[in-house]
Amino acid sequence: MKAILAADALRPKLLAEVERRSGQSVRECYQCGKCSAGCPIFGDPDGNDMDLPPNQVMRLLQLGLGETALRSRTIWLCAGCATCTTRCPREVDLASIMEALRIMALEEGITPPGLRNIPLFNKLFLKNIRRYGRLYEMELIGKFNMFSFQFFKDVLMAPVLFFKGRLGLFPSFRGRKTASPAFEDARKAGEQEQK
Ligand code: SF4
Ligand code: SF4
Repeated sequence: MKAILAADALRPKLLAEVERRSGQSVRECYQCGKCSAGCPIFGDPDGNDMDLPPNQVMRLLQLGLGETALRSRTIWLCAGCATCTTRCPREVDLASIMEALRIMALEEGITPPGLRNIPLFNKLFLKNIRRYGRLYEMELIGKFNMFSFQFFKDVLMAPVLFFKGRLGLFPSFRGRKTASPAFEDARKAGEQEQK
């Protein structure tokens, strides 16, 4: 990786904040690259739009250049599958670091280049789970298309998925009782953290 060390790109405090939020030590990483080698998104030759391999996200943080990581597409394309976490010989939970970076990017209003709808999808997804306890795809797709101004996106897929039993017309409320308290706990934990 080629990095230009410009003073205005340095954000040394960002590293401490990522470590605090993720509970991980970024310094533990010794750049073996096993995370990137196993990452299904980075390794996908057809759909890889990650602009940084996961190990380079770690390296940027180590160098105090976390701003570049915060503005990367990689943190948003990360699926949170934790393959990197399980492969890491230093037991670094990289999936949690990616999550911390996504939250910080959202808080700072940083939208990923070319991926502006991902934060919108995340927000609608969580609202959907909170309301029903499990995913109600019809509502999620409808709202996402409406708010992202792609009114007819994937509309021809709907009947196909419906007849294959993959798309329910009505929501199921199973799991709602456990989902609501979990969201409330997360909200309280977030408030505690900010105090
Ligand atoms: S697998 Fe672990 S030690 Fe190796 S580069 Fe990735 S985060 Fe660093
Ligand atoms: S958690 Fe993200 S970075 Fe790690 S292997 Fe999965 S997609 Fe790749």
